[in-house]
Amino acid sequence: MAAQVRRKLIAGNWKMNKTIPEGLALVRELKGLVASLPGERVELAVAPPFLSLQAVAKELEGSFVKLAAQNCHWEASGAYTGEVSAPMLKDLGCAYVIVGHSERRQYFGETDETVNKRTRAVVGAGMTPIICVGETLAEREANRTLEVVERQVAGALKGFQAAEVAGFVLAYEPVWAIGTGRTATSAQAQEVHRAIREQLGRLYDRGTAERVLIQYGGSVKPDNAAELLGQPDVDGALVGGASLKAGDFAAIAKGGV
Ligand code: PEP
Repeated sequence: MAAQVRRKLIAGNWKMNKTIPEGLALVRELKGLVASLPGERVELAVAPPFLSLQAVAKELEGSFVKLAAQNCHWEASGAYTGEVSAPMLKDLGCAYVIVGHSERRQYFGETDETVNKRTRAVVGAGMTPIICVGETLAEREANRTLEVVERQVAGALKGFQAAEVAGFVLAYEPVWAIGTGRTATSAQAQEVHRAIREQLGRLYDRGTAERVLIQYGGSVKPDNAAELLGQPDVDGALVGGASLKAGDFAAIAKGGV
């Protein structure tokens, strides 16, 4: 059977950066730079801070660039001061929600169990989760990369059916490569992506495994994007720092064509 041709998804995680006017200026510039990209082959998304989502959604109307959120709570509503729910994000026009980013795991007590609950909420509200997994430097140096990543994948996907998982996005983001300027080599990325796809085949079936998009994240820049995105199991990039500059983000997206 011929391998399935998966689209590439390049998503920009702005983290806690950009005021609303700054964010609008960024997406205005970005729209112009990516207007001629083949949207059926490379999809783009931006994940601004919650406060900017509504304004950015309006600015993206008529563009093929999709809207993503950086997190959400697992309950639909209730007494959870300071939290934002999945139906609220859906209502604003979000297509994707990033779940389990390593900064949430590291600084905000995110666990495989809460990642699973948030994923359930995202899917229940009709959006696509971008589920982040990845090992720390200590775990890599102790040769525990695949064990850690496989535990995170299994934890996030617990209780989901193959038909649901087939539409999910996973993001392999080695923690030691995030915001450090230190990128995984394309061979290191491909090895883990392949292992995740094989795990999906064991957990579900080969067809499901071939449909899931697996992004790479960790210091992706214009000069390393094409090489990483050229790996057979690397289906896109989750981009932090470089997504804050329209020119860099557009250049990374072009590396995925
Ligand atoms: C990220 O935060 O998901 C990320 C990959 O950041 P950076 O590109 O800055 O390493």
